[in-house]
Amino acid sequence: VVAYRLSIGRDGRLRGNAVITHNSPWPCPNGQFGITPPMNGAVLHTMVGSLPGTVTVFNNAGFQASAHFGIGGPWSNTDGQIWQFGPAHGWEAWHVEAGNNSWFGIEHEDGGDPKHPLTDAQVTASAQVLEALSAQGAWGFPLREANTPDEHGYGVHYMGGANWGGHPCPLETRAAQRPEILRRARILRAHGRYPASDPVTSWTADGKTSLIDLSGQVKLPASTILRLTVDHFGAFSPELSHWIQAGDLTAPVPDGQLLVTG
Ligand SMILES: [Zn+2]
Repeated sequence: VVAYRLSIGRDGRLRGNAVITHNSPWPCPNGQFGITPPMNGAVLHTMVGSLPGTVTVFNNAGFQASAHFGIGGPWSNTDGQIWQFGPAHGWEAWHVEAGNNSWFGIEHEDGGDPKHPLTDAQVTASAQVLEALSAQGAWGFPLREANTPDEHGYGVHYMGGANWGGHPCPLETRAAQRPEILRRARILRAHGRYPASDPVTSWTADGKTSLIDLSGQVKLPASTILRLTVDHFGAFSPELSHWIQAGDLTAPVPDGQLLVTG
């Protein structure tokens, strides 16, 4: 599954090629307008529950709790879906008490157990939200880990200690997934999508099989295999160049060489 880079409009709404729901009412009742940049970054939270349950809580003014985003999981059949509770700039969500005016909040479904690792779809969705938030000009922040309230980047709730409510959220399993989220966020920024390109099918030469043999096996013309290979690697290896120049496609492909076949 390919995920695409998302963007935040001037109205503070996240948009793009993903399953995104903007809360109704907009914003949710818990939160307030009036904050100003700069922001230090975003905070990774875990719901200890489901996305639908969290939507109910954040829309109940009695709870005085919210976040900017919630990411669904498989426990409620919303894996990787994104819910936005309020504008991604100028609006404060109530998620880390003393840090509310300088941190965006991103909640993640865990099916009631914060020890569940983020799913692959959640890691990608978190990367999409984080990348879009961080790219917001004056409201942006660097794509790196933050582990104290003074640092800038992707932090976690517990790093704020008592000033942030004294929560252990999101526990270490999920906190430790930030490097992978950040890696995907950087790929989204650089390539506009994650993964950066379609996965390739490759074949490793055994020193006995010729290109003509391989062509018959994978049902691709020999010229197509060579083109796919040079497109993928940017150039032929010296061994392959030498073998191609010899001009005998019935000779075995040199042992250990990689050819791309799809
Ligand atoms: Zn939290």
